[in-house]
Amino acid sequence: MSPLWIGTSWKMTKTLAEGRVWAEGLRDHLASEHGGQAPSGVQPFVIPSFTATTAVRGVLGEDSPVLLGVQNAHWEDEGAWTGEVSVPQARDAGAQVVEIGHSERREHFGETVKTTRLKVAAALRHGLTPLLCIGESAEVKDAGGSSAFILEQAAGALEGLSAEELARVVIAYEPIWAIGEKGRPATVEELVEPFAALGEQYSGRVMGLLYGGSVNLDNAAELLGIEHVAGLFVGRTAWKLEGYLELLRIAEAHAAS
Ligand code: PEP
Repeated sequence: MSPLWIGTSWKMTKTLAEGRVWAEGLRDHLASEHGGQAPSGVQPFVIPSFTATTAVRGVLGEDSPVLLGVQNAHWEDEGAWTGEVSVPQARDAGAQVVEIGHSERREHFGETVKTTRLKVAAALRHGLTPLLCIGESAEVKDAGGSSAFILEQAAGALEGLSAEELARVVIAYEPIWAIGEKGRPATVEELVEPFAALGEQYSGRVMGLLYGGSVNLDNAAELLGIEHVAGLFVGRTAWKLEGYLELLRIAEAHAAS
C-alpha cells in the first residue's frame, strides 16, 4: 500500500522563529521516535509560506523524510512577473511539492482552471510534485453538483498529461464549505460519493487522493477510512506541532490496521 500523505499548509501564518520551532520539533520527534525516518506507512509533508521555505529546509535537512512544499508557483520559469515565484526558484529553495489551485487562490487571486493546468505542467516539468486542490462551494453542493464540479476542475487542470506525468500528481479534495474557520467538518456520508467519483477516475492513476477541510483529532481516523482517501491535507489542527504529531500517530495506526 502507498504511504498515507499527512501534511499541512501554514497558509499566511508563522514568523521565521515560529516556523523553525515547529520544524525542529518535528525533526526531533522523528529522530527520537522513528530513527529519523517517517512513521511507518506515512508520508509527512509541510508547506510553509515562501519566506520560511529555506529555513524549514535547513532545519529538516536535505535528506529529511518530510516533503517540503510551497503554496503556489508561477507557470513561467523566470521573467517580468513582479511578486511571483517560479517553480525553479521554489526548487532552489528546497521545495519538492507545489500546492496548486487552493480555493483561496481561486477566490482571491484569480486562479482559474487554465492557470492550474499551466502550473501543474510547470511543476512536473521541473520534477516537483503538483498537489492539486479542488473543491466545490456550498451552493454547488446544495444543488447536488459536487462530483461533477470537482471532476471538471481536476480534468481541466490535468488535461493533456501522459500516464507517467499523471502518476506524479497528488489531488486534494477540499470542499470550500468544509475548510477554514467558517467551514463545518464534513461527515463521512457527505464524502463517500465525491471520493467514489474521484476514485473511479483517478484511483491508481495519480499518486494519491487526499482529503482536506476541518480535519481534527476526532475525525481524522474515520476520514482515513473512506474508500480512496489516501491521506489528509490539514490546516488549523496541524499548525500546533502537537496536533500534527497526533495526526501522524493516527495515520500510522491506520496504515498498520
Ligand atoms: C484548508 O484551508 O485548506 C484547510 C484544510 O484548512 P482547515 O484544516 O483549517 O480547515
